[in-house]
Amino acid sequence: MELKFLDSFIDEVKKIYKEPYTPLHRPVFDQNEKDYLIECIDSNFVSSVGQKVKDFENSIIDFTGAKYAIATVNGTSALHLAMLLAGVKAGDEVITQSLTFVATCNAIAYANAIPVFIDVNKDTMGMSPDALECFLKENAKIKDGKTYNNKTGKRISACVPMHTFGMPLRIKEISAICNDWGISVVEDAAESLGSFFEKKHTGTFGELGTLSFNGNKIITTGGGGMIITNDEKLAIKAKHMSTTAKITHPYEYSHDMVGYNYRLPNINAALGCAQMLKIKNFLEIKKDLSNHWKNYFGEHNVDFCTPIKGAKSNNWLHAILLNSKKERDIFIEYTNKNNVMTRPIWKLMSDLPMFSECQRDSLKNSKWLAERVVNIPSSIPA
Ligand SMILES: *Cc1c(COP(=O)(O)O)cnc(C)c1O
Repeated sequence: MELKFLDSFIDEVKKIYKEPYTPLHRPVFDQNEKDYLIECIDSNFVSSVGQKVKDFENSIIDFTGAKYAIATVNGTSALHLAMLLAGVKAGDEVITQSLTFVATCNAIAYANAIPVFIDVNKDTMGMSPDALECFLKENAKIKDGKTYNNKTGKRISACVPMHTFGMPLRIKEISAICNDWGISVVEDAAESLGSFFEKKHTGTFGELGTLSFNGNKIITTGGGGMIITNDEKLAIKAKHMSTTAKITHPYEYSHDMVGYNYRLPNINAALGCAQMLKIKNFLEIKKDLSNHWKNYFGEHNVDFCTPIKGAKSNNWLHAILLNSKKERDIFIEYTNKNNVMTRPIWKLMSDLPMFSECQRDSLKNSKWLAERVVNIPSSIPA
């Protein structure tokens, strides 16, 4: 990798961000966040009940077009609950990607289920419909409307595809295959708030979708998450399970199952309400940044990752594809040394000790991408 290009890239980052150190993604706040927080503190409703939670849920409903939204304390807890709501039982298998953030697989493990790793497409970095269909045809059979893994005898009850860096995956094909096999789809849309496929928001194709509002995501509540669904029964159950399964009553405390304290505090929701006022503006700025980088890398013959036809990405994290692991390592080392944060895509889940025994397909594309993908600074400039 030529030093000239590396220096040119660092100059380009400095031109955009004009800062001594450039992180990968940092949040943007203004006066609204401060006002809403003060309002929240003055009201005394800072904890697990309050109007801001409802307001924030409604803003997500308006924005995504989902019929219901249930706020949670983070994206991982949203995924955990979504597993249970999708009917995943202890000992079941859940199909997902090996190329994802660890939260996806942790949530499967929290439900005492076992991940099965399916390859991704190179262009979306999300689950490959061909790989999914091929795996099921080779390894599964349907009995009484349920799908079982021939090898393990276990039920495959759900599938969790993940929209990597905000780029929508081939979700219509994945949903159609899962529908044929009686497998529930839970979309991990933690990275893709503001991403659409053919005008339909990511996370609304499956039975359930989950969002994250962690500090590094496109909007943040400090920490936070959301379950979205069009199914009223699931929505009611989600709210119940996330709020200690308390039976609504003015003063009595009674609970009808082991519930979870996965509520989003009102003070976090206040931040979310303020952030949602800006999301359309964030998306426009990110689109411009993405176009800028696309041109820049085009001129330097480096592959810049863009969404597939029909997909609109939120451009959460920009990513480039380098020619080899060696080239990637040189790029990452040089840029970080020069105060420009860059990082490789996640290590494959199938290579982590706790998931090393899980069944997987060839993971050909996942392995290829894992050695070459690098994220570059993607924040909204100050
Ligand atoms: C951020 C993220 C989550 C959820 O993370 P939390 O920090 O728990 O909000 C889940 N899956 C993916 C792919 C993510 O990037």
